[in-house]
Amino acid sequence: MDCLFCKMVNREIEPDVVHEDEHVLAFRDIKPQAPTHVLIVPKKHIATLNDIDADDLALVGRLQYTAAQLARKFGFADDGYRVVMNCNEQGGQTVYHIHMHLMGGRRFTWPAG
Ligand code: C5P
Repeated sequence: MDCLFCKMVNREIEPDVVHEDEHVLAFRDIKPQAPTHVLIVPKKHIATLNDIDADDLALVGRLQYTAAQLARKFGFADDGYRVVMNCNEQGGQTVYHIHMHLMGGRRFTWPAG
């Protein structure tokens, strides 16, 4: 399958990994938008948020759980952080394998751009 994040999961491309378990891979974003910016990716290929089905609910919860665990590990859980999931073109999605952005280490503004 010609999917960038599947290639990272399979290590055809080697990402800068910060966490891995049976279901999830997390690695540093190549173009960070914050002092810490990581992407948390399910190992299962799911193209967009619209493609999540009932069997994936625990997996999606695991993305958020991993984000909170990593926020603690990086030391910004209490100060605060931003998680983002973009869906389709107008939502800003550029890689069609769902992923949660975890960004921390600076103050974020709202609304997001
Ligand atoms: O939400 P979106 O699909 O736009 O996010 C994709 C993210 O993947 C971007 O933040 C981009 O910097 C990152 N990326 C990466 N390594 C690549 C290609 C894209 O970390 N080789």
